[in-house]
Amino acid sequence: MNVERAKNKGKVYLVGAGPGRADLITVRGAELLKAADCVICDKLANPALLNYAGPNAEIIHVPKRIGSGSFTQEEINNLLIEKASSGQTVVRLKGGDPCIFGRGAEEAALLAKAGIDFEIVPGVTAAIAAAEYAGIMLTHRDYSSQVVFITGQEADNKANSNIDWHLLAKFSGTIVFYMAMGNLDFIVEQLIKNGMEQEMPAAVIADATLPTQRTVRASLRQLSDKCKQEKTEPPAIVVIGAAADSDTKLNWFMKKPLFGRNIVVTRDRCGNAGFAAKIIHRGGNPIEFATIGIKPLTQTSQFLQTLAKLAEYDWIIFTSANGMTIFFDCLQSLQKDSRTFGSAKIAAIGSETAAKLGEFGIKADFVPTVFTGKELGKQLIGFANLQGRKALLLRSQLASDELGELLEQAGAKVDNVAIYTVVTEKTECKWLTEMISRGEIDWLTFASPSSVKGFFAQIQSDLVNSSNVKVASIGPVTSEQLKNLGIRVDVTAREHTTDGLLGAIERTHE
Ligand code: SAH
Repeated sequence: MNVERAKNKGKVYLVGAGPGRADLITVRGAELLKAADCVICDKLANPALLNYAGPNAEIIHVPKRIGSGSFTQEEINNLLIEKASSGQTVVRLKGGDPCIFGRGAEEAALLAKAGIDFEIVPGVTAAIAAAEYAGIMLTHRDYSSQVVFITGQEADNKANSNIDWHLLAKFSGTIVFYMAMGNLDFIVEQLIKNGMEQEMPAAVIADATLPTQRTVRASLRQLSDKCKQEKTEPPAIVVIGAAADSDTKLNWFMKKPLFGRNIVVTRDRCGNAGFAAKIIHRGGNPIEFATIGIKPLTQTSQFLQTLAKLAEYDWIIFTSANGMTIFFDCLQSLQKDSRTFGSAKIAAIGSETAAKLGEFGIKADFVPTVFTGKELGKQLIGFANLQGRKALLLRSQLASDELGELLEQAGAKVDNVAIYTVVTEKTECKWLTEMISRGEIDWLTFASPSSVKGFFAQIQSDLVNSSNVKVASIGPVTSEQLKNLGIRVDVTAREHTTDGLLGAIERTHE
């Protein structure tokens, strides 16, 4: 990627973070975040975007408005100049698009004046994202050939306001207000006073693109009251015009089966992050609660000796995506590559493990149709003659011996090597207990027996059983563990992957 790093010469990138949902940033924006020495971040930018930044990047949050820790525009300007002058690559991350009501223009002018190189990376602005995530089309051949974006902050009766209410009231297109919630009464009053139809369709979209998105649709006359009734809070976009009357069937985002559902994920940190992304794709709100940590065992002499003779095996069997990732991390750190496998055949326990293998350029020779250790064993025996063959199981230290025993019964010579172990992780959990008690959690999800143990070492099983939270498990082994602890299991996935788990939850909401 192209990040110019002229010697000792800093540069500032004014980057649009997109409207809320983290994956609506541009590819260019994400790449620049990865390359940044320093990220100066607005409040509206999704904090998950900071995961793109490298471990050594300095992250500075610069909330504006009132309160301790808030920054004035002048302080932000000084910071930009100070960091860039010291030779750093600075990303100034701003919600939406950096220059739509984002003071990007002022920052660019200041940098130009100070002789500091800068570049602007556009972002998806809130008006466009909010409308489209609510199924409202800002332009339409039939009823809107023009759109205006207006700041509602100027709509406070200021003598020097630039808003021409007379013109706006006659505007025959779509009007979009940013920052309007504080002045909504005044805005409506001015439009009606200047001749706009009282029954003109209008909509408010708050927290657009996020699982907490809310929409209010009403006539212009009723808009403000309806927002008060529904306690609509900023950040919100106000759309006024025929476009706001769009067919509610087009409201695709809020119709997703998991939309707005609070779903707790209980794997290790890294597993939780991947799982959370899948929940967001399905419109849900992931709540990450790590109960376990994955500890590689790749420094043990048993593993290193095994690695040296990997090509001697006929079958190498990965029983989890975790094991696979740890294995390849280890290969990489030892400057080795997949040729280490020689001509050994490779089996993966499930589609996720096989997909991970694919990331390393290897196609699994065998994947069972049901993703459990037992099925892998049974089906592999039917697939290949294992009599006298050498098989290596690369697995968790805590995995059951069932798979190895099955393969041995079929005549294979099995080596069992633990490539990682699972340790219980303690996380501060009062907030989660309170959310469950208040009925704010829809689902608890469990993707392994270890996360069941880790979770219920911290959260009381009675609390879960007596609340209306539902419990979803990835497969029979995990469900068994839950039942052993006396926990009611509402759903067990038929396909034992995180996608299968979310699919099973979705079906209960259909
Ligand atoms: N530069 C930003 C706008 C900053 S002004 C952009 O291009 O989007 C802040 C205003 O943006 C908020 O008051 C609200 O009107 C709007 N906004 C930002 N994020 C929003 C979101 N997720 N949902 C609804 N409105 C949002």
